[in-house]
Amino acid sequence: MFPWQTSNWNNLTSSQQNNRLAHGLLFHGAAGTGKNAFAIDFAHWLLCEQPLTDKACGKCKSCQLIQAESNPDLLSLRPEEEGKAIKVDQVRGLIEKISLTSHGKGKRVIIISPADALNVNASNSLLKTLEEPPANTVLILITDKPSKLVATIRSRTQMIRFDLPGTDESLQWLTEQNIENPDLVLKLSAGAPLAAKAMADNEGLQIRDKLFQNWQELASGNADALDSAAMWLKDGFKNLDNLPLNWMSSWLMDIIRSLQGGHIESMSNADYAKALQNLAGQVDLKSVYSLLDRLNDTIRLNGTSANQLMLIEGLLLHWAGLKRS
Ligand SMILES: [Zn+2]
Repeated sequence: MFPWQTSNWNNLTSSQQNNRLAHGLLFHGAAGTGKNAFAIDFAHWLLCEQPLTDKACGKCKSCQLIQAESNPDLLSLRPEEEGKAIKVDQVRGLIEKISLTSHGKGKRVIIISPADALNVNASNSLLKTLEEPPANTVLILITDKPSKLVATIRSRTQMIRFDLPGTDESLQWLTEQNIENPDLVLKLSAGAPLAAKAMADNEGLQIRDKLFQNWQELASGNADALDSAAMWLKDGFKNLDNLPLNWMSSWLMDIIRSLQGGHIESMSNADYAKALQNLAGQVDLKSVYSLLDRLNDTIRLNGTSANQLMLIEGLLLHWAGLKRS
């Protein structure tokens, strides 16, 4: 459990101690706050034979099985391939497993993440289990995008919201993790501390510099858009999910701010302010807005089956082809 999750922890553990814990829980909230890690800690605590206030004991049989990754009472369901759907066959397999292994009084926890990956058939298949779960079974569904879940799943679970920690708390934690430039990485990760740490751990700042350099070269006609797209895909998206597209969005927003007469202090990319002001001086507001609209569509499509390389090529060609003065 992370320090900013204490109130969620206290609420859920006290519900359990008062026998009031719902059988279906939906953990939701911004990405990068540690919902998955929390769910695993909470599952361990639920299964532990002698739990402490803030964690599992680490010594009992259940805890030992968990450490050996062979506790049959902890089940998880995730897409077979990252970014793809959780299929109905996987849900059926899980339900069959639960019915075959129902045993005595022991608890059982099932973690489904990301729950927004459940397709419609898989969701329907899960409904009955959510409505009438086997005794002592807790289902934890996790999502950054609760609106993408079918309404019937949402209505059959108790929604537990995970908030972003305050900036000071995040910075303190990042500093304790020995992250360099904690302010900058936190800002570039929309305030989510784990996303900021992942960015720092994956050389995110260096990659951002490289992509921004390339983006400037595209504007001055010194780079080829198709070669660049291949580079963005290879260097930019490995381990960083949508971040490079979110960066590009923030560069465009800063250009718009600059065109609207905003001061450097209002820019999200303070470290690139001068270069962004130069780029702003070459383009008109309308064409930047049209590119930003296209980028937002791409961010929505990215991670679906749409061809990622083609989407990035389209964006970089559009950026390189803007009318410049
Ligand atoms: Zn234990």
